[in-house]
Amino acid sequence: MNIVLLGYPGSGKGTQAKALSEKFSLFHISTGDIFREAIAANAPLGLEVADYLAAGRLVPDKLVLEIIKDRISTETRGLLFDGFPRTVDQAQGLDDYFTARNQAVDAALFLDVDEEEVVQRLGSRRTCPKCRKIYNLLSSPPLKEGLCDGCGGKLVLREDDKPEVIHRRLGVYKDQTEPLIAYYKGIGTFHSVKGGRAPEEVAAEISAILGNRIA
Ligand code: AMP
Repeated sequence: MNIVLLGYPGSGKGTQAKALSEKFSLFHISTGDIFREAIAANAPLGLEVADYLAAGRLVPDKLVLEIIKDRISTETRGLLFDGFPRTVDQAQGLDDYFTARNQAVDAALFLDVDEEEVVQRLGSRRTCPKCRKIYNLLSSPPLKEGLCDGCGGKLVLREDDKPEVIHRRLGVYKDQTEPLIAYYKGIGTFHSVKGGRAPEEVAAEISAILGNRIA
């Protein structure tokens, strides 16, 4: 079972991906996390992608596809993609890769959240750079201000969640990522889920959609 999560930045993909990968024993692959970790580690990949992330622009498709293929080539579990694909070319690249292996994207789940809500969520999002847990200062704050409940790490506002970058990212989403909705509708694997609710409610609906597909 291979699943793609679609939606605006801040629509809850990361939160849902964490919960679903645990529940269904899927391999969670977040291209954004891979890039941020490479940047934090000063790895060659980090140097290559840092400017794109800082500006809220997409990393080139060719590089993204190389990284994805490298990460999934030896994985035997089902895959849960979070933040990938982000362009139709990436989606086609993934389909070609799967087709050659007799696999497919089994479900593309779109987390449907209004743009205004996404702007508000991104501004109040805080993340733990150590264990990647995601908080929202308004709806799901940490127990101790500024510290991760899970590992005690110091919570940060992502550079690209700052107001000036948020608007660019939303524009990039509309231009380059939104066409994926039509792409997956065309293939017949598309499901839309209302995202602007408590994470547990969203997860329950997604689980119901996936439940009869993962036996
Ligand atoms: P995310 O954490 O998914 O919001 O991603 C953060 C940033 O990483 C994006 O704004 C892009 O600069 C880059 N990025 C993540 N995933 C991709 C992707 N699939 N294609 C291109 N760039 C990406």
